[in-house]
Amino acid sequence: MARPTGISPMNKLERALRVPPGSRIKLANIDPANTHGVLKAEAAERLTKNLERLSELQYRLYAESRRALLVVLQGIDAGGKDGTVRHVMSGLNPQGVSVTSFKVPEGAEKRHDYLWRVHQAVPEWGQIGIFNRSHYEDVLVVRVHNLVPKAVWSKRYRQINDFERMLSENGVVILKFLLYISKEEQAERFRLRLEDKTRTWKFSPADPKERVYWDQYIEAYEEALRKCATRWAPWYVIPANKKWFRNLAVSQVIVDALERMNLKYPKPAAELSAVKIK
Ligand code: AMP
Ligand code: MG
Repeated sequence: MARPTGISPMNKLERALRVPPGSRIKLANIDPANTHGVLKAEAAERLTKNLERLSELQYRLYAESRRALLVVLQGIDAGGKDGTVRHVMSGLNPQGVSVTSFKVPEGAEKRHDYLWRVHQAVPEWGQIGIFNRSHYEDVLVVRVHNLVPKAVWSKRYRQINDFERMLSENGVVILKFLLYISKEEQAERFRLRLEDKTRTWKFSPADPKERVYWDQYIEAYEEALRKCATRWAPWYVIPANKKWFRNLAVSQVIVDALERMNLKYPKPAAELSAVKIK
């Protein structure tokens, strides 16, 4: 089929999901069940292709070892962060990936600035790093529950932008995903956690309590999107009610970003024609 623009439909998907810097996204205007015209029947095949490509690109990133990819996963409870790690990162070579889950700060984390633990978890060159929650908790849960005064958290948007800019200028490619589900979908997932013996371990008594703060979380997310969607560290809002679409969309954005990096194999360490294997 002719594509006069030269832009593939999947590339369009990446653009449709990306938050333009400075824009005032109203999450209420985004349908968490939207699948952007992708049919479930075609999604599985596309995901398989993306995962194969992801594996090839990871190999190049690892070979080049001069830059890193940082994938930030955020979302309200039961938004699908763990599932995304499981389904989208499954094809990667474990030698080249690290996953860091950020919990309530404790020990040394509490005795440092909030970015200290985050900086330490940034992937090294050649690696893909996944953040399951991130420094954004410091303008989300911290803001919603007044864990520090407004005067403190309100400065963090700028600090986060500066931090991410520094990382980006030094070779860390950053992609930030908000996995966006509806309040009804969250209720469904909590119910499932209560009913299914293989999932009860995931249920936290705090979950239904946090749900009461839904609107405040939405507001906090909207401000983070507005203030921290930057050229150097874009935010993507992923409609995540449908897991198959969520997995496809996240894999697509990651593949596109790695393609844009134009990863190169390093030059061989020696003049190969002169090497004799005896
Ligand atoms: P889970 O992801 O379900 O294992 O839960 C981790 C919990 O840690 C969530 O309730 C987060 O809101 C909380 N958390 C993560 N980072 C922070 C932070 N910087 N300050 C306070 N709570 C946090
Ligand atoms: Mg939880």
